[in-house]
Amino acid sequence: MGLVSRFIGQGGARNDKSKDPTTTSSSLTDGALDTLGSVMRTFGDLSFPLDDPSVLPAFREDCAAFACHVENGAAVPVHEIPQSAAGQREWAAVRRFFADRRHDEKLFVTERLSDYRGVVGELVDGLRQIGQRDQDTETAVRLSLDKVEKAAEASDLPTIKAALGETIRTVTDTFARQKLEYEQQISELNQRMSGLRQDLVATREEMKRDPLTQAYNRGAFDTAIAQSVNLNFLLRQPVTIVLLDIDRFKFINDTYGHSAGDEVLSDIGKCLERSFIRKSDLVARFGGDEFAVILNDTTAGNSVSLINRFVQSLRDIRIPYAGDDIRVTCSAGYTEIAPGDGVKSVMKRVDEALYTAKHAGRDRVEFAPPPSA
Ligand code: GH3
Ligand code: MG
Repeated sequence: MGLVSRFIGQGGARNDKSKDPTTTSSSLTDGALDTLGSVMRTFGDLSFPLDDPSVLPAFREDCAAFACHVENGAAVPVHEIPQSAAGQREWAAVRRFFADRRHDEKLFVTERLSDYRGVVGELVDGLRQIGQRDQDTETAVRLSLDKVEKAAEASDLPTIKAALGETIRTVTDTFARQKLEYEQQISELNQRMSGLRQDLVATREEMKRDPLTQAYNRGAFDTAIAQSVNLNFLLRQPVTIVLLDIDRFKFINDTYGHSAGDEVLSDIGKCLERSFIRKSDLVARFGGDEFAVILNDTTAGNSVSLINRFVQSLRDIRIPYAGDDIRVTCSAGYTEIAPGDGVKSVMKRVDEALYTAKHAGRDRVEFAPPPSA
């Protein structure tokens, strides 16, 4: 039997002094009931919000009504406890109401604490993975994460808070240091890349030229395109490849003779050198009356005007030979190197574009789009 019951018994009336053995015990009962009512109101005022904070005011009112019921037998309308003329109390209903609520609150707090521990655990795991980049970082992050984990196990909130604060400071410092290191590495890498580009230009100077056209020979082209494919793969540097072939060149040979044909090839070589003038461009004689151009650092979209300008300037050329003006045109295909490309796949694609240009009537430029990533 509880404290209040001991004084007033089940269903006892607060102001019915004739039933109290002494005045002292009556005032004790009054004091106990007032205290119990006050505890119930405090319970209502300071209760946990549970999942729906909007019901808090209603709960507070219920607690106040139960407090009044305990103090003087007033009705508790929502819980269908009527006012008793004899001042009787529904102690069982009072106990059930507060016990149920306390049970819900305990469940709520236990779940939240477990959620909270889960979040701390996930945070620790995530930071642990980030911290595994190098030995120093790993050690620094691991030590402070161990502290957080220990604190979380002990469920001592101020300790968890302090440990988390320390971890955040450690991780922030570590990341700031890593950022500095990465910036240094990137700057070194950039220097090495620019060195590599210079090497590329230097290698090109040592490459062999075709004696007739002064363009680079096929061997030089093969070396250069392999380097361009690699640069595209490593740095995603855009590269456009052009393959072009003189239209009906046999006719020129047959009509004007082989040496006239040689002169035409030589003039085309000069025209190409004038059209593709950047240091990073490479013009090569691919074979017979075929030429190839590598446009490094250039997208297909930016190359198209350069290619058309060359095709037009070739149309405009008049090559004087034995009192005649030889006119010449070419067909061209071009494509852009894609990250999955090898030399073979690029050359196959550009060759198909050239083939299309020839079969579409010659003296034109066709684009072979790279496979989409
Ligand atoms: P198409 O429009 O289809 O290209 O017709 P084409 O007559 O140009 O045919 P094709 O490209 O197959 O012919 C290339 C010719 O170029 C065949 C070859 O005799 C000639 N040729 C190859 N190398 C040289 C060279 O160094 N000097 C000369 N004068 N002619 C060459
Ligand atoms: Mg030809």
